[in-house]
Amino acid sequence: MTTLDLFTDLPQPTPAEKVRQLRRDLERYSHAYYVLDNPIVPDSEYDRLYRELQALEARHPELVTPDSPTQRVGGAPLAQFEKVQHRIPMLSLQNGFDEAEIEAFDRRVSEELGIQAVEYTAELKFDGLAVNLRYEKGQLVQAATRGDGTTGENITANVRTIQCIPLRLDTEQPPPLLEIRGEVLMYKQDFQDLNKRQLENGQKTFVNPRNAAAGSLRQLDSRITASRRLRFFAYGLGELEGAAPLQSQQQMLDWFMQMGLPVCPERRTVTGYQGLIAFFKEIHARRDTLPYEIDGVVYKVNRLAQQQKLGFVSHAPRFALAHKFPAQEMLTQVLDIDVQVGRTGAITPVARLKPVFVGGVTVTNATLHNEEEVRRKDIRIGDTVIVRRAADVIPEVVSSVLEKRPEDAREFIMPTHCPVCGAPIIRPEDEAVARCSGGWINCPAQKKRGLELFASRKAMNIEGLGEQLIDQLVDKAVIQDAADLFTLDVPTLAALDRMAEKSAANLVAECGKAKETTLARFLYALGIRHVGETTARTLAEHFGSLQAIIDAPEEQLLQVEDIGATVAASIKAFFADGHSMALVNRLQANGVHWPEGGGKKQDQVLAGKRFVLTGTLPSLTRDQASEIILSLGGKVSGSVSKKTDYVLAGAEAGSKLEKAQALGITILTEEDFLAMTKTGKLV
Ligand code: NAD
Repeated sequence: MTTLDLFTDLPQPTPAEKVRQLRRDLERYSHAYYVLDNPIVPDSEYDRLYRELQALEARHPELVTPDSPTQRVGGAPLAQFEKVQHRIPMLSLQNGFDEAEIEAFDRRVSEELGIQAVEYTAELKFDGLAVNLRYEKGQLVQAATRGDGTTGENITANVRTIQCIPLRLDTEQPPPLLEIRGEVLMYKQDFQDLNKRQLENGQKTFVNPRNAAAGSLRQLDSRITASRRLRFFAYGLGELEGAAPLQSQQQMLDWFMQMGLPVCPERRTVTGYQGLIAFFKEIHARRDTLPYEIDGVVYKVNRLAQQQKLGFVSHAPRFALAHKFPAQEMLTQVLDIDVQVGRTGAITPVARLKPVFVGGVTVTNATLHNEEEVRRKDIRIGDTVIVRRAADVIPEVVSSVLEKRPEDAREFIMPTHCPVCGAPIIRPEDEAVARCSGGWINCPAQKKRGLELFASRKAMNIEGLGEQLIDQLVDKAVIQDAADLFTLDVPTLAALDRMAEKSAANLVAECGKAKETTLARFLYALGIRHVGETTARTLAEHFGSLQAIIDAPEEQLLQVEDIGATVAASIKAFFADGHSMALVNRLQANGVHWPEGGGKKQDQVLAGKRFVLTGTLPSLTRDQASEIILSLGGKVSGSVSKKTDYVLAGAEAGSKLEKAQALGITILTEEDFLAMTKTGKLV
């Protein structure tokens, strides 16, 4: 009998057993999420199990019980708070994840209403927590959490500390009773600031803005809530007495706004399935530029009479649907932890993961940064972990799920010797990073990473010289260092794997072209520790020649803008090293050259000006725009501050533009920018 037979012979759980198991797990996760504000698994895992339970219950209706998580909302209210009964229950939303589900929703609504093209409001799905605000004669008299939908917690004192929630409605004729429903949330920046403060004070940090908002709102001491920056967006109605009947969701939101309640401007009335999807796509693309987190969008039938006709399922309205974004956090398993050797010898532990689809890509490994980080996060081989990949951000291991840790999970042990060259690994006491002591001459891994930097676009820009080719060149000892790249010939290259006559000839030509470069590029390409692209440029501009940099005493280097003791020491150490100097000399002997003194340009029209780029420009890429700014003596930074001189804004510019406007910074279009650089006249 094979191992496989053994497993298939295991008794399969009956549907009733499976349902029980799923409910047990979901309840445990819900408790951690709703009651403790401290989730143990990502939402994607909760949603997966929830859907599995829903499917099982649909196939076996006899197993449905009123206390099943599919029939209920949220979690039980905490005993410490006074309880509040919601006369009109606060419900959840039905979820859809793909376009087929959205189409099916629209079809169902359209059929039940007997209308061809249904009008919807499309709103954002804020990732916070739902609250009910009760206004009597325009005065805020009570605020409550959703709780389990019928019984919530009285959090009036805490909600009164939220600046944007009016204590009195701004209207001459307030209705005798009005209940506003909406979401309390924390902006991403405020969340980061809060976590930083918590860390400094040795207090617990929050996993994400939602949990920070929930944890801040459910405080017994409202002074703590007051010290956290919470916000609120209104999106719905509870009880209402004594007001003219409302016609639509849009009209309702406009009315809320007129009375001084915060309503999110990112909302739209759309028609039919196509309109819903268009809104979803637009918002999905802009998600990261919003100052708060959202986990999808919400569609609601706009006409209130139609909403009423459609009614409710057990725990959610039938007239609304949450269209969720693909998960940015997923569970997977750590198969192994090994180490990677970087260009400067830095040894980085890397988690090898069971492939997992997250944030739109399949992730198979994730850096764990350094040994301390592995210990701090307590990540072990065999662990089930939460992997996060937000748009364009490298995947990260957020945490281990301790309750899923197998008995034989192993701790990571930092190797004592470099796995590539065998030299001892050293970690200076005051540094977090361990390094291979082999140096680039002896350690092929360091040599390869150094060559990758050398050939990269912003360095020598040798097109066609990628990671795989570099691996071959080094492994087969075709080259010893970067200088050898300029003596390569076609037959040698053509003999390598995946290379042919034509590609070999192209590469030789590319290397030939790369010989003509600039001092700034050359300096950057050398890979001197702490000398990035900007520092290389500053050095080239300041000194004008390589010899002047080599000869400069440390004190002189320190006088250069943005160069501190660490960088100066690193530059000195590099040129004092015999191997490095030999390489520099051989590169020049093999034909690499640049205009000496050329670093000091006369026409530095943007000298000292700080730019921030945002949005998509009509013709220039961001790199091209940055290149122009830098070449004219300007600086490019990632975030807007009082020091920013110009913001170059393109289409769909987000929060950076808003901030620049608020600070009164000059905003340029691409056209303004090009005119300015051409004429040299600053605006
Ligand atoms: P939900 O979050 O899917 O949707 C309902 C809620 O959306 C409302 O109560 C409201 O608070 C909010 N909302 C945001 N914007 C809105 C808008 N414009 N209009 C109306 N409502 C809006 O449902 P839920 O019942 O609050 O929670 C279920 C979700 O919570 C699950 O899908 C799961 O992702 C998460 N959860 C996670 C865990 C975990 O362990 N990670 C445990 C329990 C629940």
